[in-house]
Amino acid sequence: MEQHVRKRLSFLTSFWNKLWPNTVSADKPSQGYFDPAPVALRPDLEPDPVLPSSSLFSALYDFRARSAEELSVSRGDKLCVLKEEGEYVLARRLSGEATLGYIPANYVARISEETSHQLWYFSGVGRNEAQQLLLSPPNQHGSFLIRDSESSRGEYSLSVRNHDKVSHFRICKGPDGGLYIQKGQTFPNMEELLTFYTVNWKVVQSPLLQPCIPKTPPVRDGWERPRSEFTLGRKLGEGYFGEVWEGLWKNMVPVAIKIIKQADMKAEDFTKEIQNLKRLKHERLIQLHAVCSVGEPLYIVTELMRKGNLQNYLSSLEGRALSTLHLISIACQVADGMTYLEEQHIVHRDLAARNILVGDNLTCKIADFGLARLLKDDIYSTSGSTKIPVKWTAPEVANYRTYSLKSDVWSYGILLYEVFTHGQTPYEGMTNQETIQQIIMGYRLPRPSTCPPEIYIIMLECWKGNTEERPTFLALREKLCSIYRRVHNSLS
Ligand code: AMP
Repeated sequence: MEQHVRKRLSFLTSFWNKLWPNTVSADKPSQGYFDPAPVALRPDLEPDPVLPSSSLFSALYDFRARSAEELSVSRGDKLCVLKEEGEYVLARRLSGEATLGYIPANYVARISEETSHQLWYFSGVGRNEAQQLLLSPPNQHGSFLIRDSESSRGEYSLSVRNHDKVSHFRICKGPDGGLYIQKGQTFPNMEELLTFYTVNWKVVQSPLLQPCIPKTPPVRDGWERPRSEFTLGRKLGEGYFGEVWEGLWKNMVPVAIKIIKQADMKAEDFTKEIQNLKRLKHERLIQLHAVCSVGEPLYIVTELMRKGNLQNYLSSLEGRALSTLHLISIACQVADGMTYLEEQHIVHRDLAARNILVGDNLTCKIADFGLARLLKDDIYSTSGSTKIPVKWTAPEVANYRTYSLKSDVWSYGILLYEVFTHGQTPYEGMTNQETIQQIIMGYRLPRPSTCPPEIYIIMLECWKGNTEERPTFLALREKLCSIYRRVHNSLS
Protein backbone atom coordinates (compact mmCIF):
# COMPACT_ATOMS: atom_id res chain seq x y z
CA MET A 1 0.00 0.00 0.00
CA GLU A 2 2.72 2.46 1.07
CA GLN A 3 4.83 1.77 -2.05
CA HIS A 4 1.79 2.08 -4.29
CA VAL A 5 0.66 5.38 -2.80
CA ARG A 6 4.22 6.78 -2.81
CA LYS A 7 4.64 5.88 -6.47
CA ARG A 8 1.25 7.13 -7.61
CA LEU A 9 1.34 10.39 -5.66
CA SER A 10 5.05 11.03 -5.53
CA PHE A 11 4.58 14.80 -5.39
CA LEU A 12 3.33 14.37 -1.82
CA THR A 13 6.64 12.80 -0.76
CA SER A 14 7.15 14.96 2.27
CA PHE A 15 3.64 14.17 3.42
CA TRP A 16 4.25 10.41 3.02
CA ASN A 17 7.59 10.78 4.78
CA LYS A 18 5.77 12.18 7.79
CA LEU A 19 3.37 9.25 7.66
CA TRP A 20 6.03 6.55 7.09
CA PRO A 21 9.26 8.13 8.33
CA ASN A 22 11.52 5.06 8.06
CA THR A 23 11.26 4.20 4.41
CA VAL A 24 14.33 4.75 2.27
CA SER A 25 14.23 4.33 -1.47
CA ALA A 26 17.29 2.55 -2.84
CA ASP A 27 17.60 2.77 -6.60
CA LYS A 28 20.88 1.05 -7.27
CA PRO A 29 22.64 1.65 -10.58
CA SER A 30 22.74 -1.49 -12.67
CA GLN A 31 25.91 -3.54 -12.56
CA GLY A 32 27.93 -4.25 -15.63
CA TYR A 33 28.37 -7.67 -17.14
CA PHE A 34 31.82 -8.33 -15.82
CA ASP A 35 32.47 -7.67 -12.15
CA PRO A 36 33.39 -3.98 -12.35
CA ALA A 37 35.83 -2.18 -10.12
CA PRO A 38 34.95 1.45 -10.75
CA VAL A 39 37.75 3.96 -10.36
CA ALA A 40 36.79 6.60 -7.82
CA LEU A 41 37.82 9.98 -9.17
CA ARG A 42 35.49 12.10 -7.12
CA PRO A 43 36.97 14.62 -4.73
CA ASP A 44 36.58 13.21 -1.26
CA LEU A 45 35.22 15.96 0.95
CA GLU A 46 34.12 15.60 4.54
CA PRO A 47 30.45 16.28 5.18
CA ASP A 48 29.66 19.73 6.55
CA PRO A 49 28.48 19.45 10.16
CA VAL A 50 25.95 22.31 9.83
CA LEU A 51 24.66 23.41 6.46
CA PRO A 52 23.95 27.11 6.07
CA SER A 53 20.45 27.44 4.60
CA SER A 54 21.93 29.58 1.80
CA SER A 55 23.72 26.49 0.46
CA LEU A 56 20.57 24.41 0.22
CA PHE A 57 19.44 23.89 -3.33
CA SER A 58 16.92 21.81 -5.17
CA ALA A 59 17.39 20.15 -8.58
CA LEU A 60 15.06 21.75 -11.12
CA TYR A 61 15.50 19.03 -13.77
CA ASP A 62 16.76 15.49 -14.11
CA PHE A 63 20.48 15.46 -14.93
CA ARG A 64 22.51 12.42 -15.99
CA ALA A 65 26.18 12.57 -15.11
CA ARG A 66 28.45 12.24 -18.14
CA SER A 67 31.65 11.57 -16.23
CA ALA A 68 32.80 10.40 -12.80
CA GLU A 69 33.04 14.02 -11.59
CA GLU A 70 29.42 14.83 -12.33
CA LEU A 71 26.46 14.00 -10.14
CA SER A 72 23.26 12.48 -11.47
CA VAL A 73 20.19 14.04 -9.87
CA SER A 74 16.46 13.74 -10.23
CA ARG A 75 14.18 16.73 -10.29
CA GLY A 76 13.37 17.73 -6.72
CA ASP A 77 16.53 16.23 -5.14
CA LYS A 78 17.79 18.32 -2.24
CA LEU A 79 21.39 19.39 -2.61
CA CYS A 80 24.03 21.17 -0.61
CA VAL A 81 26.11 23.37 -2.90
CA LEU A 82 29.69 23.48 -1.70
CA LYS A 83 31.19 25.61 -4.45
CA GLU A 84 29.99 27.60 -7.43
CA GLU A 85 32.43 27.30 -10.33
CA GLY A 86 31.44 29.21 -13.44
CA GLU A 87 28.65 27.36 -15.17
CA TYR A 88 28.79 24.46 -12.70
CA VAL A 89 28.23 23.90 -9.02
CA LEU A 90 29.89 21.28 -6.87
CA ALA A 91 27.04 19.76 -4.89
CA ARG A 92 26.35 16.98 -2.45
CA ARG A 93 23.03 15.18 -2.66
CA LEU A 94 21.26 15.26 0.69
CA SER A 95 18.62 12.65 -0.03
CA GLY A 96 19.30 8.98 -0.80
CA GLU A 97 22.94 8.04 -1.26
CA ALA A 98 24.99 11.08 -0.27
CA THR A 99 27.27 11.58 -3.26
CA LEU A 100 29.23 14.50 -4.54
CA GLY A 101 29.80 15.96 -8.00
CA TYR A 102 29.30 18.73 -10.51
CA ILE A 103 25.92 19.82 -11.95
CA PRO A 104 25.20 22.64 -14.44
CA ALA A 105 24.36 25.72 -12.38
CA ASN A 106 21.17 26.36 -14.36
CA TYR A 107 19.86 22.97 -13.24
CA VAL A 108 19.60 23.96 -9.57
CA ALA A 109 17.81 26.64 -7.57
CA ARG A 110 18.35 27.88 -4.06
CA ILE A 111 15.68 26.77 -1.62
CA SER A 112 14.38 29.97 -0.08
CA GLU A 113 10.88 29.47 1.22
CA GLU A 114 8.68 26.56 2.08
CA THR A 115 6.97 26.19 -1.28
CA SER A 116 9.86 27.13 -3.51
CA HIS A 117 11.50 23.70 -3.61
CA GLN A 118 8.32 21.75 -4.25
CA LEU A 119 8.00 20.07 -7.61
CA TRP A 120 4.56 21.56 -8.15
CA TYR A 121 5.59 25.17 -7.50
CA PHE A 122 6.51 27.16 -10.63
CA SER A 123 7.99 30.48 -9.70
CA GLY A 124 7.60 33.35 -12.18
CA VAL A 125 5.19 31.47 -14.45
CA GLY A 126 2.07 33.35 -15.53
CA ARG A 127 -1.35 32.04 -16.56
CA ASN A 128 -0.56 31.78 -20.30
CA GLU A 129 2.79 30.13 -19.80
CA ALA A 130 1.25 27.68 -17.32
CA GLN A 131 -1.36 26.81 -19.90
CA GLN A 132 1.27 26.25 -22.58
CA LEU A 133 3.45 24.14 -20.31
CA LEU A 134 0.61 21.93 -19.11
CA LEU A 135 -0.61 21.32 -22.66
CA SER A 136 2.82 20.31 -24.00
CA PRO A 137 4.24 16.80 -23.70
CA PRO A 138 5.23 14.99 -21.56
CA ASN A 139 2.50 16.66 -19.48
CA GLN A 140 -0.88 15.04 -19.72
CA HIS A 141 -4.37 14.87 -18.22
CA GLY A 142 -4.06 15.52 -14.47
CA SER A 143 -0.81 17.52 -14.65
CA PHE A 144 -0.95 20.56 -12.40
CA LEU A 145 1.12 23.36 -10.95
CA ILE A 146 0.95 26.08 -8.36
CA ARG A 147 2.08 29.55 -9.44
CA ASP A 148 2.03 33.05 -8.05
CA SER A 149 -1.24 34.79 -8.70
CA GLU A 150 -0.86 37.53 -11.33
CA SER A 151 -3.73 39.66 -10.08
CA SER A 152 -3.32 39.31 -6.34
CA ARG A 153 0.22 39.68 -4.97
CA GLY A 154 1.20 37.18 -2.28
CA GLU A 155 -1.48 34.74 -3.31
CA TYR A 156 -1.29 31.66 -5.49
CA SER A 157 -3.16 29.98 -8.35
CA LEU A 158 -3.66 26.33 -9.13
CA SER A 159 -3.57 25.44 -12.84
CA VAL A 160 -4.69 21.95 -13.71
CA ARG A 161 -5.00 20.15 -17.04
CA ASN A 162 -8.26 18.41 -17.79
CA HIS A 163 -7.67 16.46 -21.02
CA ASP A 164 -6.99 19.20 -23.60
CA LYS A 165 -8.00 22.22 -21.55
CA VAL A 166 -6.50 23.93 -18.53
CA SER A 167 -8.47 25.38 -15.62
CA HIS A 168 -7.15 27.91 -13.13
CA PHE A 169 -8.23 28.37 -9.52
CA ARG A 170 -7.31 31.21 -7.22
CA ILE A 171 -5.88 30.12 -3.87
CA CYS A 172 -6.70 32.85 -1.38
CA LYS A 173 -4.95 33.63 1.87
CA GLY A 174 -7.14 34.10 4.96
CA PRO A 175 -6.35 36.66 7.69
CA ASP A 176 -4.67 33.92 9.76
CA GLY A 177 -2.46 32.89 6.79
CA GLY A 178 -4.58 29.82 5.99
CA LEU A 179 -5.06 28.88 2.33
CA TYR A 180 -8.35 28.13 0.61
CA ILE A 181 -9.99 27.70 -2.79
CA GLN A 182 -13.53 27.52 -1.41
CA LYS A 183 -14.51 29.73 1.52
CA GLY A 184 -14.87 27.67 4.69
CA GLN A 185 -12.38 25.03 3.54
CA THR A 186 -9.09 26.45 4.83
CA PHE A 187 -5.72 24.64 5.14
CA PRO A 188 -2.63 25.62 7.12
CA ASN A 189 -0.32 25.03 4.15
CA MET A 190 -0.27 24.24 0.44
CA GLU A 191 0.62 20.60 0.87
CA GLU A 192 -2.49 19.92 2.93
CA LEU A 193 -4.62 21.86 0.48
CA LEU A 194 -3.29 19.74 -2.38
CA THR A 195 -3.79 16.51 -0.45
CA PHE A 196 -7.43 17.48 0.12
CA TYR A 197 -8.07 18.32 -3.55
CA THR A 198 -6.28 15.20 -4.71
CA VAL A 199 -9.06 13.25 -3.05
CA ASN A 200 -11.91 15.76 -3.55
CA TRP A 201 -10.97 16.69 -7.09
CA LYS A 202 -14.47 17.34 -8.49
CA VAL A 203 -14.14 20.97 -7.30
CA VAL A 204 -11.03 21.50 -9.43
CA GLN A 205 -12.53 19.57 -12.36
CA SER A 206 -9.65 17.16 -12.84
CA PRO A 207 -7.73 14.80 -10.54
CA LEU A 208 -4.32 16.14 -9.50
CA LEU A 209 -2.26 13.27 -10.90
CA GLN A 210 1.27 14.62 -11.31
CA PRO A 211 3.09 17.91 -10.95
CA CYS A 212 3.79 19.66 -14.23
CA ILE A 213 7.15 18.75 -15.82
CA PRO A 214 9.09 21.88 -16.82
CA LYS A 215 10.89 22.30 -20.15
CA THR A 216 14.48 21.15 -19.66
CA PRO A 217 16.93 23.89 -20.63
CA PRO A 218 19.52 22.86 -23.19
CA VAL A 219 22.72 21.63 -21.52
CA ARG A 220 25.61 23.50 -22.93
CA ASP A 221 28.33 21.26 -24.24
CA GLY A 222 29.78 20.60 -20.83
CA TRP A 223 32.63 18.65 -22.38
CA GLU A 224 34.35 21.78 -23.63
CA ARG A 225 36.56 23.19 -20.87
CA PRO A 226 39.09 26.00 -20.75
CA ARG A 227 42.65 24.74 -21.02
CA SER A 228 43.50 26.70 -17.83
CA GLU A 229 41.52 24.17 -15.77
CA PHE A 230 44.21 21.56 -16.43
CA THR A 231 47.75 21.34 -15.14
CA LEU A 232 50.24 18.97 -16.71
CA GLY A 233 52.29 16.72 -14.44
CA ARG A 234 54.48 14.03 -15.96
CA LYS A 235 54.54 12.62 -19.45
CA LEU A 236 53.00 9.15 -19.60
CA GLY A 237 53.72 8.21 -23.16
CA GLU A 238 53.41 9.04 -26.79
CA GLY A 239 51.17 7.54 -29.46
CA TYR A 240 50.14 8.20 -33.05
CA PHE A 241 48.10 11.18 -31.97
CA GLY A 242 50.58 12.98 -29.78
CA GLU A 243 51.80 13.00 -26.21
CA VAL A 244 49.85 11.80 -23.20
CA TRP A 245 50.39 13.50 -19.85
CA GLU A 246 49.27 12.79 -16.34
CA GLY A 247 47.62 15.91 -15.00
CA LEU A 248 45.15 17.47 -12.61
CA TRP A 249 41.77 18.91 -13.39
CA LYS A 250 41.07 21.97 -11.26
CA ASN A 251 44.03 20.97 -9.09
CA MET A 252 41.90 18.19 -7.74
CA VAL A 253 41.04 15.33 -10.05
CA PRO A 254 43.82 13.17 -11.56
CA VAL A 255 43.34 12.81 -15.32
CA ALA A 256 45.19 11.78 -18.46
CA ILE A 257 45.59 14.53 -21.06
CA LYS A 258 46.20 13.63 -24.67
CA ILE A 259 47.75 16.57 -26.51
CA ILE A 260 46.81 16.09 -30.13
CA LYS A 261 49.15 16.93 -32.96
CA GLN A 262 46.61 18.61 -35.19
CA ALA A 263 48.86 18.33 -38.21
CA ASP A 264 47.94 14.63 -38.30
CA MET A 265 44.21 15.22 -38.03
CA LYS A 266 41.52 15.67 -40.58
CA ALA A 267 40.04 18.68 -38.84
CA GLU A 268 36.51 18.32 -40.19
CA ASP A 269 36.37 14.70 -39.01
CA PHE A 270 37.55 15.55 -35.55
CA THR A 271 34.35 17.21 -34.38
CA LYS A 272 32.30 14.29 -35.66
CA GLU A 273 34.47 11.74 -33.97
CA ILE A 274 34.52 13.61 -30.68
CA GLN A 275 30.71 13.53 -30.79
CA ASN A 276 31.07 9.74 -30.96
CA LEU A 277 33.42 9.65 -28.01
CA LYS A 278 31.05 11.79 -25.98
CA ARG A 279 28.12 9.46 -26.41
CA LEU A 280 30.03 6.23 -25.68
CA LYS A 281 29.87 5.21 -22.07
CA HIS A 282 30.81 1.82 -20.72
CA GLU A 283 32.87 0.66 -17.80
CA ARG A 284 35.27 -1.15 -20.15
CA LEU A 285 35.87 1.96 -22.24
CA ILE A 286 38.13 4.82 -21.20
CA GLN A 287 35.80 7.59 -20.07
CA LEU A 288 36.13 10.94 -21.76
CA HIS A 289 36.11 13.77 -19.20
CA ALA A 290 36.58 16.89 -21.29
CA VAL A 291 37.97 18.39 -24.44
CA CYS A 292 39.78 21.67 -25.01
CA SER A 293 39.26 22.37 -28.69
CA VAL A 294 39.26 26.15 -28.65
CA GLY A 295 42.69 27.17 -29.89
CA GLU A 296 45.71 24.88 -29.97
CA PRO A 297 46.93 22.40 -28.96
CA LEU A 298 43.89 20.23 -28.70
CA TYR A 299 43.42 18.36 -25.40
CA ILE A 300 41.43 15.17 -24.98
CA VAL A 301 41.04 14.58 -21.28
CA THR A 302 40.20 11.10 -20.02
CA GLU A 303 40.25 9.12 -16.82
CA LEU A 304 43.72 8.16 -15.65
CA MET A 305 44.73 4.50 -15.70
CA ARG A 306 47.62 4.22 -13.34
CA LYS A 307 49.25 1.08 -14.70
CA GLY A 308 49.55 2.32 -18.26
CA ASN A 309 49.08 0.28 -21.41
CA LEU A 310 48.48 -3.47 -21.31
CA GLN A 311 51.38 -4.31 -23.62
CA ASN A 312 53.97 -2.82 -21.26
CA TYR A 313 52.10 -4.01 -18.20
CA LEU A 314 52.07 -7.65 -19.33
CA SER A 315 55.85 -7.72 -19.63
CA SER A 316 56.44 -5.85 -16.35
CA LEU A 317 57.34 -7.70 -13.14
CA GLU A 318 53.74 -7.46 -11.97
CA GLY A 319 52.39 -8.55 -15.36
CA ARG A 320 54.66 -11.58 -15.60
CA ALA A 321 53.34 -12.78 -12.24
CA LEU A 322 49.74 -12.91 -13.52
CA SER A 323 48.08 -16.34 -13.47
CA THR A 324 46.13 -17.90 -16.35
CA LEU A 325 42.92 -16.90 -14.55
CA HIS A 326 44.08 -13.26 -14.48
CA LEU A 327 44.87 -13.42 -18.20
CA ILE A 328 41.42 -14.85 -18.96
CA SER A 329 39.92 -12.04 -16.88
CA ILE A 330 41.73 -9.48 -19.08
CA ALA A 331 40.43 -11.24 -22.22
CA CYS A 332 36.86 -11.17 -20.83
CA GLN A 333 37.03 -7.47 -19.96
CA VAL A 334 38.25 -6.50 -23.43
CA ALA A 335 35.58 -8.71 -25.06
CA ASP A 336 32.98 -7.03 -22.84
CA GLY A 337 34.02 -3.53 -23.96
CA MET A 338 34.16 -4.63 -27.60
CA THR A 339 30.67 -6.14 -27.30
CA TYR A 340 29.46 -2.69 -26.34
CA LEU A 341 31.21 -1.12 -29.36
CA GLU A 342 29.70 -3.88 -31.52
CA GLU A 343 26.23 -2.99 -30.22
CA GLN A 344 26.94 0.65 -31.05
CA HIS A 345 28.25 -0.28 -34.52
CA ILE A 346 31.59 1.34 -33.81
CA VAL A 347 34.66 -0.16 -35.44
CA HIS A 348 37.80 0.35 -33.37
CA ARG A 349 40.35 -0.20 -36.20
CA ASP A 350 43.35 -0.41 -33.88
CA LEU A 351 42.56 -3.01 -31.26
CA ALA A 352 45.83 -4.15 -29.66
CA ALA A 353 47.29 -4.51 -26.17
CA ARG A 354 48.96 -1.09 -26.57
CA ASN A 355 45.48 0.44 -26.76
CA ILE A 356 44.16 -1.25 -23.63
CA LEU A 357 44.84 0.60 -20.39
CA VAL A 358 45.23 -1.00 -16.99
CA GLY A 359 44.08 0.46 -13.68
CA ASP A 360 43.98 -0.78 -10.11
CA ASN A 361 42.67 -4.30 -9.39
CA LEU A 362 43.52 -5.38 -12.94
CA THR A 363 40.77 -3.22 -14.39
CA CYS A 364 41.20 -3.07 -18.16
CA LYS A 365 39.64 -0.47 -20.44
CA ILE A 366 39.70 0.05 -24.18
CA ALA A 367 41.23 3.32 -25.37
CA ASP A 368 41.52 5.17 -28.67
CA PHE A 369 38.29 3.77 -30.07
CA GLY A 370 37.33 5.60 -33.19
CA LEU A 371 40.42 7.76 -33.19
CA ALA A 372 42.19 5.63 -35.79
CA ARG A 373 39.91 6.95 -38.51
CA LEU A 374 41.05 10.48 -37.74
CA LEU A 375 44.52 9.86 -39.03
CA LYS A 376 45.22 11.38 -42.37
CA ASP A 377 44.80 8.83 -45.13
CA ASP A 378 48.44 8.74 -46.06
CA ILE A 379 49.42 7.54 -42.60
CA TYR A 380 47.03 4.65 -42.89
CA SER A 381 47.89 3.75 -46.45
CA THR A 382 49.47 0.36 -47.04
CA SER A 383 52.14 1.76 -49.33
CA GLY A 384 55.39 1.84 -47.47
CA SER A 385 54.14 3.44 -44.24
CA THR A 386 55.48 1.87 -41.06
CA LYS A 387 52.55 3.23 -39.07
CA ILE A 388 49.93 0.74 -40.18
CA PRO A 389 49.68 -1.94 -37.50
CA VAL A 390 50.02 -4.73 -40.05
CA LYS A 391 50.56 -7.52 -37.56
CA TRP A 392 47.22 -6.77 -35.90
CA THR A 393 45.40 -6.15 -39.14
CA ALA A 394 43.02 -8.55 -40.88
CA PRO A 395 44.04 -9.53 -44.45
CA GLU A 396 41.02 -7.75 -45.99
CA VAL A 397 42.18 -4.52 -44.32
CA ALA A 398 45.78 -4.93 -45.44
CA ASN A 399 44.61 -5.64 -49.00
CA TYR A 400 41.50 -3.54 -49.47
CA ARG A 401 41.29 -1.39 -46.36
CA THR A 402 37.84 -2.70 -45.59
CA TYR A 403 37.49 -2.16 -41.87
CA SER A 404 34.61 -3.82 -40.07
CA LEU A 405 33.74 -5.26 -36.69
CA LYS A 406 35.03 -8.55 -38.10
CA SER A 407 38.43 -7.00 -38.76
CA ASP A 408 38.36 -5.90 -35.12
CA VAL A 409 37.68 -9.56 -34.22
CA TRP A 410 40.86 -10.55 -36.08
CA SER A 411 42.81 -7.95 -34.09
CA TYR A 412 41.23 -9.27 -30.91
CA GLY A 413 42.71 -12.70 -31.72
CA ILE A 414 46.15 -11.07 -31.95
CA LEU A 415 45.47 -9.29 -28.66
CA LEU A 416 44.72 -12.69 -27.08
CA TYR A 417 48.12 -13.84 -28.38
CA GLU A 418 49.76 -10.83 -26.73
CA VAL A 419 47.95 -11.51 -23.46
CA PHE A 420 48.85 -15.21 -23.28
CA THR A 421 52.51 -14.55 -24.18
CA HIS A 422 52.78 -11.75 -21.59
CA GLY A 423 53.24 -9.06 -24.21
CA GLN A 424 55.31 -10.77 -26.89
CA THR A 425 55.23 -9.14 -30.33
CA PRO A 426 53.33 -11.32 -32.80
CA TYR A 427 55.15 -12.83 -35.78
CA GLU A 428 58.51 -12.08 -34.16
CA GLY A 429 61.33 -12.06 -36.68
CA MET A 430 58.97 -11.50 -39.63
CA THR A 431 58.63 -8.20 -41.49
CA ASN A 432 55.23 -6.67 -42.15
CA GLN A 433 55.43 -7.69 -45.78
CA GLU A 434 56.34 -11.29 -44.90
CA THR A 435 53.51 -11.38 -42.38
CA ILE A 436 50.91 -10.32 -44.96
CA GLN A 437 52.22 -12.84 -47.49
CA GLN A 438 52.27 -15.68 -44.97
CA ILE A 439 48.76 -14.88 -43.69
CA ILE A 440 47.34 -14.87 -47.20
CA MET A 441 48.96 -18.27 -47.77
CA GLY A 442 47.16 -19.57 -44.68
CA TYR A 443 49.88 -19.30 -42.03
CA ARG A 444 48.67 -18.60 -38.47
CA LEU A 445 50.57 -17.88 -35.26
CA PRO A 446 51.35 -21.09 -33.35
CA ARG A 447 49.89 -21.80 -29.90
CA PRO A 448 52.07 -20.20 -27.23
CA SER A 449 53.24 -22.83 -24.76
CA THR A 450 51.53 -21.05 -21.86
CA CYS A 451 48.19 -20.69 -23.66
CA PRO A 452 45.37 -23.13 -22.78
CA PRO A 453 44.31 -25.07 -25.95
CA GLU A 454 40.69 -23.87 -25.68
CA ILE A 455 41.87 -20.25 -25.78
CA TYR A 456 44.03 -21.03 -28.82
CA ILE A 457 40.96 -22.47 -30.58
CA ILE A 458 39.26 -19.09 -30.00
CA MET A 459 42.27 -17.29 -31.53
CA LEU A 460 42.07 -19.48 -34.63
CA GLU A 461 38.34 -18.68 -34.96
CA CYS A 462 39.17 -14.96 -34.90
CA TRP A 463 41.69 -15.52 -37.71
CA LYS A 464 39.33 -17.22 -40.16
CA GLY A 465 39.99 -15.89 -43.67
CA ASN A 466 36.26 -15.61 -44.31
CA THR A 467 34.98 -12.72 -42.22
CA GLU A 468 31.53 -14.33 -41.91
CA GLU A 469 33.05 -17.30 -40.08
CA ARG A 470 34.65 -15.17 -37.37
CA PRO A 471 32.67 -15.01 -34.12
CA THR A 472 30.95 -11.87 -32.88
CA PHE A 473 32.27 -10.10 -29.80
CA LEU A 474 29.12 -11.12 -27.99
CA ALA A 475 29.91 -14.79 -28.69
CA LEU A 476 33.55 -14.26 -27.69
CA ARG A 477 32.51 -12.65 -24.42
CA GLU A 478 30.12 -15.50 -23.59
CA LYS A 479 32.71 -18.15 -24.37
CA LEU A 480 35.58 -16.52 -22.50
CA CYS A 481 33.51 -15.61 -19.49
CA SER A 482 32.23 -19.16 -19.17
CA ILE A 483 35.84 -20.42 -19.35
CA TYR A 484 36.70 -17.84 -16.67
CA ARG A 485 33.90 -19.06 -14.40
CA ARG A 486 34.87 -22.70 -14.88
CA VAL A 487 38.59 -22.10 -14.15
CA HIS A 488 37.68 -19.86 -11.22
CA ASN A 489 35.36 -22.50 -9.72
CA SER A 490 37.91 -25.26 -10.20
CA LEU A 491 40.43 -23.24 -8.21
CA SER A 492 38.14 -22.30 -5.31
P1 AMP B 1 48.04 6.66 -26.97
O1 AMP B 1 48.34 7.88 -27.73
O2 AMP B 1 46.62 6.58 -26.56
O3 AMP B 1 48.52 5.42 -27.63
O4 AMP B 1 48.84 6.80 -25.59
C1 AMP B 1 50.24 6.68 -25.49
C2 AMP B 1 50.58 6.08 -24.14
O5 AMP B 1 50.20 6.97 -23.09
C3 AMP B 1 49.85 4.77 -23.85
O6 AMP B 1 50.51 3.69 -24.39
C4 AMP B 1 49.83 4.75 -22.34
O7 AMP B 1 51.04 4.24 -21.84
C5 AMP B 1 49.71 6.22 -21.97
N1 AMP B 1 48.31 6.58 -21.74
C6 AMP B 1 47.39 6.96 -22.66
N2 AMP B 1 46.20 7.22 -22.10
C7 AMP B 1 46.35 6.99 -20.78
C8 AMP B 1 45.47 7.06 -19.65
N3 AMP B 1 44.19 7.42 -19.77
N4 AMP B 1 45.94 6.72 -18.43
C9 AMP B 1 47.24 6.34 -18.31
N5 AMP B 1 48.12 6.27 -19.32
C10 AMP B 1 47.69 6.57 -20.54
